[in-house]
Amino acid sequence: MLYEINEKVITLRREGKSIINFNVGDPDQATPPAIVQAAYDAMVAGQTKYGSSAGAMPLRERLAERYAVEPANVIVTPGSKWAIYSIIHLLLRDGGNLVIPSPHWSSYELIAREVGAELRLLKGDLDSHWAIDVEGLQSLLDDETRLIILNNPNNPTSKVLDRRNVQALVDVANERQIPILSDETYADISFTPVKNILEYTGNHIFVNSFSKTFAMTGWRIGFAILDRALVEKLVAFNQISISNVPLFLQAAAVKALDLMDDIAHTMREIYRRRAELACSLLADTKLQFTKPDAPFYLFPRCDVDAEELAFDLLDRGVAVVPGTAFGDYNTYFRISLTNPDDAIQRGLETIAAAFK
Ligand code: PMP
Repeated sequence: MLYEINEKVITLRREGKSIINFNVGDPDQATPPAIVQAAYDAMVAGQTKYGSSAGAMPLRERLAERYAVEPANVIVTPGSKWAIYSIIHLLLRDGGNLVIPSPHWSSYELIAREVGAELRLLKGDLDSHWAIDVEGLQSLLDDETRLIILNNPNNPTSKVLDRRNVQALVDVANERQIPILSDETYADISFTPVKNILEYTGNHIFVNSFSKTFAMTGWRIGFAILDRALVEKLVAFNQISISNVPLFLQAAAVKALDLMDDIAHTMREIYRRRAELACSLLADTKLQFTKPDAPFYLFPRCDVDAEELAFDLLDRGVAVVPGTAFGDYNTYFRISLTNPDDAIQRGLETIAAAFK
């Protein structure tokens, strides 16, 4: 559904219609010029050859330092999506199941299906503020469970998990020696601080990205931190597939880390303001939702069929994603605030008018 709506938006735009795209999680900000310059400088300096399939050492060292691990625990990938794909592929290609709390980012499900892995979804609930039901999770685990995926902060709810909730999930996973893959793609620009999965006990997998924090979605660079044995398998998988992330991109990523405090602060404040604007514009409507803890999304319950709603709103010039893209949520839809403030204002007024 997510990708279908996207294609329809592209077609409508080609026909000359103006559409406010609340449907993709791609920040409207440009990549900061200093990062672009660093990539250019690296290209001019000749960093245009093949490189290590694990990632360039200067970047791995910087990330290792930041997360208090060894460089050997870090692997650089073309987007965090590739890290997630590779890990699911390596852990589940010969069987087993994986458990994912829902609502969930569509790609986890699409990847699991592509790999042929058995997916077990644990349905979450707006009325419990999207907390993950620990007993519910426990009941889905068995001897064949090879992975649990957490997404903290979550796409589409923008919820940061309560630390006690994560601790309880970690305890359950550790007892059965099942690794948790924690996708923390939105953590560095979260309004609510996130305690990363590496700070909990156990042998877990941390995944993060340069895409959202630095407005670098199209660059395709992310990374994972995990135990050395699995890093080695991932490196071998990179060797036979993507070879390496371009070295000039990795040089730019080092620059991004140099500038991280300022850039992340700016992004966080822009999206905090937008989230507040969105909450106030939708406050007096029939829509129900939790206030975002992080960029970029709102996931309201609308009590109508959200697929019909999405096409209806598209006719009125606003693209959203129906909740069915994120699991069994056909009366919910996702709004992405990755638009300039005036477009957010207009688009949300259209949505609010539909739910007065
Ligand atoms: N994880 C989540 C939860 C996401 O929402 C996205 C992008 N929409 C990604 C991972 C993928 O990011 P990347 O560009 O690093 O592949």
